[in-house]
Amino acid sequence: MKYNSTRDKNNRISAAQTIIKGIAEDGGLFVPEKIPQTDDAFLSEMLTCSYQERAFKILSLYLTDYTDEEIKECIKKAYTDQKFDDESIAPLIKLSDEQYILELWHGPTSAFKDMALQLLPQLMSTALQKTKQKNDVAILVATSGDTGKAALEGFRNVEKIKIIVFYPQQGVSDIQRRQMITQKGANVDVIAIEGNFDDAQSGLKKIFNDKVFNKELAEKGYELSSANSINWGRLLPQIVYYFSAYCDLVNKKVIRPGDKVDFTVPTGNFGDILAGYYARKMGLPINKLICASNTNNVLTDFFATGTYDKNRKFFKTISPSMDILISSNLERLLYHVTEDDRKIDEWMNKLSANGHYTIDSSYLSQLQEIFIADWVDEKETLATIRILHDTYGYTADPHTAVAWQAAQNYRETADYKKIPMVVLSTASPYKFNDSVLAALGIDIGDADEFTQLDILKKYNKSAIPAGLSSLKTASILHKKICAKENMAVEIRNCLK
Ligand SMILES: *Cc1c(COP(=O)(O)O)cnc(C)c1O
Repeated sequence: MKYNSTRDKNNRISAAQTIIKGIAEDGGLFVPEKIPQTDDAFLSEMLTCSYQERAFKILSLYLTDYTDEEIKECIKKAYTDQKFDDESIAPLIKLSDEQYILELWHGPTSAFKDMALQLLPQLMSTALQKTKQKNDVAILVATSGDTGKAALEGFRNVEKIKIIVFYPQQGVSDIQRRQMITQKGANVDVIAIEGNFDDAQSGLKKIFNDKVFNKELAEKGYELSSANSINWGRLLPQIVYYFSAYCDLVNKKVIRPGDKVDFTVPTGNFGDILAGYYARKMGLPINKLICASNTNNVLTDFFATGTYDKNRKFFKTISPSMDILISSNLERLLYHVTEDDRKIDEWMNKLSANGHYTIDSSYLSQLQEIFIADWVDEKETLATIRILHDTYGYTADPHTAVAWQAAQNYRETADYKKIPMVVLSTASPYKFNDSVLAALGIDIGDADEFTQLDILKKYNKSAIPAGLSSLKTASILHKKICAKENMAVEIRNCLK
């Protein structure tokens, strides 16, 4: 199977090359030329599989230039019990007969990004060996918080790869910052930028598209690549947990094979929910995908009107990983719906020139068949954390609470078919202690973040993840700060 750029169908490469490159030279994102189809037999074989075996079944449909052994080895290294603190990797928690939570944060950094970022470095390292590439790879990451740490942890000390992470100085939680600036590893750099996530992301996009700069680095022995969710190797592992959650529902006898379920996804860059779209296209019986946003509700407006308009106020919220004005992966969705690279090129050029574009109404109605979009404000998010705790004894982080509330809103509409709802949970509550404790009405005075962890433990059944409690004594290794115009300069310094 080949992959092509969303902005040029004739730009076609293998899966291994796709994973090494991250983004196409023409600015587009790589997509599979054809989405593989699964049938009843495929799903029924999957029922008795472990998470790792389920991952193998999905990955081998897409990575046709990798051998079975290579794929199995990558999966084995990624999803081990040394890295994940739950043997089912992505456990499905029942809150009521119809409502389930899919916990995606049992990896080493307690964020759902681990689901993909434990696997991507293995897939990339294997790809480098397969294609016998001379140059090393320099991974550049822009992070709104969780991606940075998860990428650092996934890539640290992986051979032939360097990683440089940029995070918005004011845009991440205290724990997230500490997780990054204490990162160990011989091949890692972490830099704060004076700007928000979109500044970091568009700064990197420019650098990826800067031919002169890329040539300079190539002569020094480095190819640039990305670990952001624009890399296909990030997206692919995420398809697995939709299938896995569905299998778990069948195994628990909540549904019979073929019955439909809804999924609600707390959304930022549109990677997580797009993986659900791929699962649905592959034949997994998904009814609706509910796209949940916070106050940065650009996607809610897009799915209502067909106009994507990033010219709006940017809000810093208590769910910072969803504080995004440009949801990059939407480009892939639009490509699959239109199959028209000229149109995508035109829309994306309009987005970068004027900040907005409008899709044809026929495409919009196709999207509205599948996606329900909604947003939840800060006050309601806090109230939802409280309700989940008091009603179900479940402690949720703010991102998960946004999704839970969007799911409830949908369940109250006439559209709702009374089928099981799976809400994706994307962060451990221990990563957002102050918001969660405030929601529960607990006065923390001036307790520092580590004391907050201990206070929250009293109100949460699950243990404090080891990666978080050990931060207290970890030494700070990264102190660089740069202006948003100076990212290229910093990269040059790191790759000396
Ligand atoms: C990254 C992230 C999201 C958003 O996922 P996208 O794939 O960017 O839409 C939601 N919640 C948390 C905690 C995240 O880290």
